[in-house]
Amino acid sequence: MDTLLKTHNKLEFLHPLHGFAEKLGNLTFPKLQNQEFRFGPKKSNLKWGRNGCVKASSSALLELVPETKKENLEFELPMYDPSKGLVVDLAVVGGGPAGLAVAQQVSEAGLSVCSIDPSPKLIWPNNYGVWVDEFEAMDLLDCLDTTWSGAVVFIDDHSKKDLGRPYARVNRKQLKSKMMQKCILNGVKFHQAKVIKVIHEESKSLLICNDGVTIQAAVVLDATGFSRCLVQYDKPYNPGYQVAYGILAEVEEHPFDVDKMVFMDWRDSHLNNNMELKNRNSRIPTFLYAMPFSSNRIFLEETSLVARPGVPMEDIQERMVARLRHLGIKVKSIEEDERCIIPMGGPLPVLPQRVVGIGGTAGMVHPSTGYMVARTLAAAPIVANSIVQYLGSDRSFFGNELSSEVWRDLWPIERRRQREFFCFGMDILLKLDLQGTRRFFDAFFDLEPRYWHGFLSSRLFLPELIFFGLSLFSHASNTSRIEIMAKGSNGHVTVGAPTVQLMLLAAM
Ligand SMILES: Cc1cc2nc3c(=O)[nH]c(=O)nc-3n(C[C@H](O)[C@H](O)[C@H](O)COP(=O)(O)OP(=O)(O)OC[C@H]3O[C@@H](n4cnc5c(N)ncnc54)[C@H](O)[C@@H]3O)c2cc1C
Repeated sequence: MDTLLKTHNKLEFLHPLHGFAEKLGNLTFPKLQNQEFRFGPKKSNLKWGRNGCVKASSSALLELVPETKKENLEFELPMYDPSKGLVVDLAVVGGGPAGLAVAQQVSEAGLSVCSIDPSPKLIWPNNYGVWVDEFEAMDLLDCLDTTWSGAVVFIDDHSKKDLGRPYARVNRKQLKSKMMQKCILNGVKFHQAKVIKVIHEESKSLLICNDGVTIQAAVVLDATGFSRCLVQYDKPYNPGYQVAYGILAEVEEHPFDVDKMVFMDWRDSHLNNNMELKNRNSRIPTFLYAMPFSSNRIFLEETSLVARPGVPMEDIQERMVARLRHLGIKVKSIEEDERCIIPMGGPLPVLPQRVVGIGGTAGMVHPSTGYMVARTLAAAPIVANSIVQYLGSDRSFFGNELSSEVWRDLWPIERRRQREFFCFGMDILLKLDLQGTRRFFDAFFDLEPRYWHGFLSSRLFLPELIFFGLSLFSHASNTSRIEIMAKGSNGHVTVGAPTVQLMLLAAM
């Protein structure tokens, strides 16, 4: 097999190795149009060079990736009728997991809801992975399609950790169908368009859509993910980026146990005959994330956990090709591919503000891991209850006052402190090279499960996070301790991290 991957995104017009995020910044921030990066038309192919090295090539050699399939749900949607000029209680902008979850729950309480999205029936494109206990807690086990009894982490060629925590892939069709059905049953109306502008009056807001329709609502929820359509930010936007390239592939064989998913594979022996790539990976490492569905069907994703600027997609693909070759994974066909660009950390939006938010738009991605689905779905009832309570029967709150209450419930002080701690974690990870990253995760996964589970699932709060920090510190090697102290010392966090650093110092 000469070539493995064909891509079809727009990243190719960016510099292949450096300046990705800067260009991204110049071109699209602060309004990152995530979909555009995933579905652009360009191609860039990778081919094997002599000596088994892999190098990027612009010529198309093998086209394994199918054109992006856009699969729709077969629902008759009750549509919003603009001619009636009704003021709905809640307009939800964005029909991703975050927006639909809130639409469903607010409408359940009898309030009128309009959900606005350019493709309301489209099955979400991302391959979501979650810890089973997270979905179990929300009674969503029926929305998982494959479950693994545990996960493995390869620290390096000699060290592997078995994580006894079941992991699963979300059945995105089932999850969206379930939410849509409930929305329809509760009387949610849908409008197929993009919102381009919001105008606020004292007790209602007007949403201007790109089809010329105006929708009036007492409360507006921005759930547009990383495109952050309406929510305002007043601080420089300086996130780290998780960048990943994934394929769902039919392969001749693969070396992984089908009962375990591969949470992280930090091995780098696949780069031994490409020193340039090996050095790059040593400075800014990437790992393999894999979901083996059977002996010949597997989801493989090469991932840069977090970097600033983000690692260019071509670089990620090049590393993936080298890894698969080394592992003896021969790809026969690719069902779908996924390119993932997740802004992580950075400032929270202005708190409070008139438009309320949830999900990617409201700073809810885990700053140290890039995970968000479970956290967002768990936060949806908080936002929904808050809207229902304040907008409820007596209508004593409206406009700015109402939004302030909702924001306060979404981002109470303990959640903001938790996020600052996670940003501190991201700040450390941003600065670690491969060896440092390995030492970090070696100590991290040696922690008591309640600590690492709680950290990954946003369930730890101060002061527990202090104990988490101390525990991590006591499990770390001396080199790792020095790295944590040194690398975390000039972060931009203000509340939790210095406390933790002081505690860590005290523990030395
Ligand atoms: C490729 C990829 C893989 C991921 N994998 C995982 C994972 O495994 N586990 C995990 O926990 N997290 C994962 N994430 C992170 C995160 O959970 C997802 O991004 C998640 O989809 C965010 O949900 P959301 O509802 O906030 O936004 P989105 O899912 O991005 O939904 C936003 C919606 O808003 C719509 N929209 C945008 N602009 C407008 C507008 N102007 N007007 C109207 N509608 C608009 C969009 O069309 C879209 O339907 C992944 C992210 C990506 C990109």
